[in-house]
Amino acid sequence: MNHTNQKINNNKEYFISEFQKHFDGIPRIFRAPGRINLIGGHTDYNEGFVLPILLNQYTTVAITPRNDYQLHVWSENMNELLTFSIKDLKPNGNWSDYIVGVAKELLDENFLLSGANVCIKSEIPIGGGLSSSAAVEVAIAKGFLSLVGNTMNKSKVARICQRAENKFVGMKSGIMDQFVIVQGKINHVLFLDCRSLEFEHISLPTDNIRFVVCNTKITHKLGASAYNKRIIECEEGVRLLQEVYPNINALRDVSLRQLTNLKNTLPNVIQRRCYHVISENERVIKSAAAIKQNQFALLGNLINESHDSLRDNYEVSCNELNIMVELARELPGVLGARLTGGGFGGCTITLVETEYVENFTQEISTKYEQKTGLIPEIYVSEPAGGAFELV
Ligand code: ADP
Ligand code: MG
Repeated sequence: MNHTNQKINNNKEYFISEFQKHFDGIPRIFRAPGRINLIGGHTDYNEGFVLPILLNQYTTVAITPRNDYQLHVWSENMNELLTFSIKDLKPNGNWSDYIVGVAKELLDENFLLSGANVCIKSEIPIGGGLSSSAAVEVAIAKGFLSLVGNTMNKSKVARICQRAENKFVGMKSGIMDQFVIVQGKINHVLFLDCRSLEFEHISLPTDNIRFVVCNTKITHKLGASAYNKRIIECEEGVRLLQEVYPNINALRDVSLRQLTNLKNTLPNVIQRRCYHVISENERVIKSAAAIKQNQFALLGNLINESHDSLRDNYEVSCNELNIMVELARELPGVLGARLTGGGFGGCTITLVETEYVENFTQEISTKYEQKTGLIPEIYVSEPAGGAFELV
């Protein structure tokens, strides 16, 4: 524990000096982690359940105030400085939308921003399905709030960031990413009801099991339009199901039996999308129970079923994700593997017995490279805590 604190303190001087390469003054510093979703793929925008954990990889925002209603933002990852007038914030169709969107949402909530200098640096792979987008939103939201008196509760911060992504970026993503990034707890998984936002931190035993993230190195560039298409298909499913079950509001409200009753009347694609979401919600609930009872073989099976359903029913996997998952499942000590995040590229999550982790990371790297010609990145994650200020 002391060791971790020590490391964080050291980082602070580093981030201040990075900031001072671009701006004057001593900034406040905010860090927001990336996330992986153990299970619960594409359930959040269907008002269902998810089970994410946080990674020990962060996006860091260093910030000082300005009084001239200018926003000057340097991104180390983009190697670019962009400037804006706070009085005229609109989508620009580039990386700044995630930052400007959050500023705009805060202004619309009557937080009186008068400008800022901002320096951003991310350790989270960008476009890799670990939600570098929500991490940058949450870190910048905390930064802006620190300039105007930080009074907003965590759930509201998550909502503001989600709205920024929905409205400014046009990504109609659910609440999971932003919510876990503000609320996640070290060595716990977050069991979240995306309708009520009620949540439970479930303790994860850290001795016998490791969560290993394998980055296919395929970014999900084409994912946004396909992602939004899935949302439209789910909405269409709800509309058709409402003709028979008028009381449902979201796929969250539909049972597998109700869906099966209408199997022959729904268009095949819509039926399969609905089947995935409804069965996935059941798997999330079973997974939460399995973790509480230390039943990791069962959790592994549910994770495998989740991937297969995302691949076959929801059709958001891709060749490289399937290869990574298949290779993982053949290795010793592996309990389950699935794609994590929205799909179409990015990362997989594999549940591995601790004693096999070293062998796993070596074998999967070699085998994936042999099969695809791509060199993957492997992260053995220790579930981290939520976004925080470095003090
Ligand atoms: P993911 O969230 O899976 O990493 P997204 O496509 O949702 O992928 O979000 C990636 C986008 O978020 C980037 O293309 C960029 O616009 C923005 N972004 C994330 N991190 C940074 C950063 N450090 N600096 C600037 N923009 C960033
Ligand atoms: Mg994202």
